[in-house]
Amino acid sequence: VKPPRFRYVKPTSLSEAVDLMGQMGDRARLLAGGQSIMPLISMRLIRPDYLVDINGLEALAYIRSNGESVSIGALTRQRAVEDSADVGARVPLLSQAIRYVGHMSIRNRGTVGGSVAHGDPAAEIPAVLLALGAAVTANGPKGSRRIPLQDLYRTAFTTTLAADEILTEVSIPAQPRNSGSAVLEVTRRHGDFAIVGVAATLTLDADERVEGARLVAFGTGSVATRLISAEETVMGEAPSEAHFQSAGRAASAELQPLSDIHASDEYRRWVAATVVARALPVALDDARARQGGGAR
Ligand SMILES: Cc1cc2nc3c(=O)[nH]c(=O)nc-3n(C[C@H](O)[C@H](O)[C@H](O)COP(=O)(O)OP(=O)(O)OC[C@H]3O[C@@H](n4cnc5c(N)ncnc54)[C@H](O)[C@@H]3O)c2cc1C
Repeated sequence: VKPPRFRYVKPTSLSEAVDLMGQMGDRARLLAGGQSIMPLISMRLIRPDYLVDINGLEALAYIRSNGESVSIGALTRQRAVEDSADVGARVPLLSQAIRYVGHMSIRNRGTVGGSVAHGDPAAEIPAVLLALGAAVTANGPKGSRRIPLQDLYRTAFTTTLAADEILTEVSIPAQPRNSGSAVLEVTRRHGDFAIVGVAATLTLDADERVEGARLVAFGTGSVATRLISAEETVMGEAPSEAHFQSAGRAASAELQPLSDIHASDEYRRWVAATVVARALPVALDDARARQGGGAR
């Protein structure tokens, strides 16, 4: 399918891009990796007058880390994150998740900022960023602001970013040494978006009781969702298979999944119980291995 006509602009600096977006507002869309926006334009689901190509803004492609956090520039390719030893060591949940994003050729072009801004409810990156308590930075004509992930999404494919704001950075607190993580998802084929997915982290105290748990479901509703009741079932416990099964049942009860062409709400609820119950022991093993091996 051919895209409708649009004008193409390629700024060479962030300030130029911010000026352009300020002038054009919702008549323009940013082009990053193009892996989501170009299919949408080609299928004529969106018809921007202008495409502002930010691929010249090389200053937005970086991974920086210190002991406390990892900062990733919005234009960083998903493949660079996958290959980053720093990301693997400090925020392993992101490394675990990114391999599920489409296929390697998509990750070679697709950017972290593009995935976050696109806001697909079945996307892995926003879900793990929510689980990790990340925040994003956005720059617009009115300046720069920081937005915690839990405040970024209104509904599917709709963020609280203004039309003239550019997402510039994702900042992620490093996972503690005594924590482990896991991502599990059910898809029809390898590389497809999740019908149901879960991102899990477990943090253990010195007695191997759970002192922190995060469970985020994705692909189930209009936005990625924290599973608070399921988290509570393992908090403070020396976790066992019985706790994992209880967490799965709690997840199934608290989720309000959608029915669509891929699956019914009932099926999603049933699968959510299973993926939660299976992800938690993987996260537990990971926490024990990291504690024992001093991986970070
Ligand atoms: C076959 C296929 C399979 C895929 N499978 C998966 C999958 O399993 N999981 C998954 O998560 N994704 C999947 N994707 C999507 C992929 O991850 C995309 O790379 C990602 O969603 C968008 O990133 P992008 O850099 O390509 O953004 P683009 O397509 O360039 O842009 C996407 C949207 O974000 C906006 N945008 C981009 N950058 C910024 C910015 N810095 N600030 C503000 N707005 C911005 C654009 O204007 C546009 O609206 C798949 C894509 C394809 C084609």
